[in-house]
Amino acid sequence: MKDLFFEGLIENDTEKLLRVPKSDIHVHSTKGCRREWLEERLNVDLPKPPPKFDGLWGMQGWFTSTIKPYCSGAEGIIVRWEGSFAEAGRNNITRLAMNFGVTEIELVGGMETFVPMIEGFHKKYCPDTVFEPEITYVAACDVQMETDRMDEYLSSGYFRSIDVCGGEDIKPVEDFIPLYRKAEQYRLIKRMHVGESGSAEDVRRAVEILGLDEVHHGIGAASSKEVMRFLADNKIQLNVCPSSNVMLGYAKSYKEYPIRTLYENGVKVTINTDDLLLFDSSIENEYLLLYNAGALGLEELNDIRMQGLCSLP
Ligand SMILES: [Zn+2]
Repeated sequence: MKDLFFEGLIENDTEKLLRVPKSDIHVHSTKGCRREWLEERLNVDLPKPPPKFDGLWGMQGWFTSTIKPYCSGAEGIIVRWEGSFAEAGRNNITRLAMNFGVTEIELVGGMETFVPMIEGFHKKYCPDTVFEPEITYVAACDVQMETDRMDEYLSSGYFRSIDVCGGEDIKPVEDFIPLYRKAEQYRLIKRMHVGESGSAEDVRRAVEILGLDEVHHGIGAASSKEVMRFLADNKIQLNVCPSSNVMLGYAKSYKEYPIRTLYENGVKVTINTDDLLLFDSSIENEYLLLYNAGALGLEELNDIRMQGLCSLP
């Protein structure tokens, strides 16, 4: 498979890259499908995203005004979930961690309806994929209230990990301690969006204070040798998302994407799509973009691909 991966990159051959086993460990489930899939499914033409968004809120605004009108409410979410599994099947994603918000779970009728529906999509589109559902909370949530009702979602043992997303500057990381302590009782892998817009120090603090096992994004860490050493020593993996970071303006370009710095400083990294529907780049293309920009070479990219396939904390 390594040879096929190399050939795909050298020859710019998407078909070859699609056949290579890959992971996608950071995917927001409601935005994990391809625009082309959604267009075909809904029988509409959807607008292409702009080359850059004005940060997270600009992205959210574009999604709400441009894509959502075609696929809103419970029905729209279910279609987008289905498309996310279809993409995992198409792209040979053999390890998939996707996150789901409690609001979406409630919208489709709670855990009793949610779990069989999701497992149905998993079985239909990518039965051989190791699927690791992640529960995610927006940073603006009422932490105490969400902690109190966490058992409702976690007692079945369906979720494998926890995440907090939606803005690093909404509240101090200390505020999320109750949520993460409870997640620990259920032995969830602890992840959080940090170091996407934030600094190296923000990454270190979040890892130390919340006991994170992994970080979604975390590219801010590349500006500090000391923090990279801390992450490497503690085997904290960063699940980075190149197109997301470039399009939101958190990284200058693919060529200057800080993944090389992180990799060379011994930090474990994986490559992921984040919001495929909005960034218009599926996982094989993320590898291709980094290779073509000269950000990393063949062996390094393959090393990172393998890291994603075998890296359960
Ligand atoms: Zn994300």
